[in-house]
Amino acid sequence: MKTLYRIDLIFSIVYILIVLSAGIFLSLVLRSYLPLLLAVVFAFFYGYFLSRKTFRRISAVRRAFPESWRRLLTERAYFYSKLPPEEKRIFENNLKIFLADFPIRGRRGFQPSREARLLAAAGVVTLLQGHPEWEPPTPDGILIYPGERFDEDYNPGRGNITGMAPYRGPMILSEKRILEDFVIPPPPFNVVYHETAHFFDWEDGRAEGFPLNRMPPGLEEEWMEVFENELERVRKGESILRDYAGTGPGELFAVATEVFFTTPFSMKKHHPRLFRILKLFYNLNPAAIFSGKSQKRL
Ligand SMILES: [Zn+2]
Repeated sequence: MKTLYRIDLIFSIVYILIVLSAGIFLSLVLRSYLPLLLAVVFAFFYGYFLSRKTFRRISAVRRAFPESWRRLLTERAYFYSKLPPEEKRIFENNLKIFLADFPIRGRRGFQPSREARLLAAAGVVTLLQGHPEWEPPTPDGILIYPGERFDEDYNPGRGNITGMAPYRGPMILSEKRILEDFVIPPPPFNVVYHETAHFFDWEDGRAEGFPLNRMPPGLEEEWMEVFENELERVRKGESILRDYAGTGPGELFAVATEVFFTTPFSMKKHHPRLFRILKLFYNLNPAAIFSGKSQKRL
């Protein structure tokens, strides 16, 4: 994540110049200062609202990373704990920006624990680690439910849903599931990784296991072929991915992402082609990070 995106800056300057030019033109034609005055006021407020986000991010990054957060991540977030120091700094900055810029709320007055909030945010930024230019796919942030499960009518304490990625809206996570999934050694599943992968997938409007908007160029064909193959393996019971991945390509992508970031060695061994395409997609190699042998890069 970045504090300032050059493309946004260029777009904003061009937009402000167009508004000011229109104001000058209309002032000359109408022989009145009013259009120019309105254009200046509009440009000022537009620039102000736009720069607010940038300043918020800059001040978040400038703040020191709290030692208590670092301790919690070291004890609970295996991926973070294995990163080399320079990569840890990137992770910590992303986490600070995420917490400053994206809401994390509890359901209807419920106050999620500090640990659950921090680990949920850490889960999202884990998937961004390999791409400094990537933004979180969750513009509406995260909504945390009390307990472990909820049902399809969003009633906590019922049903068997632990996380949800609605097409529009915040990521929904149950608090207990977040806390249980972030332990060391990590289990081969993680509700935050799973739902974040679904949000990547939703960005092109269809969650079908093909996150088009973030797909590296040239990977599409191989991706389709590997996914078709892997789906068949899951359905035949020949995969290390849990049965739920066989529901369809969308769930396959989400479950594979969980395994890739939690237990990459077994994925690399049993599903080398799936491991390879996820490595290219996320632009990092968790097996290398976990073994401490190399930096995150391929
Ligand atoms: Zn799912």
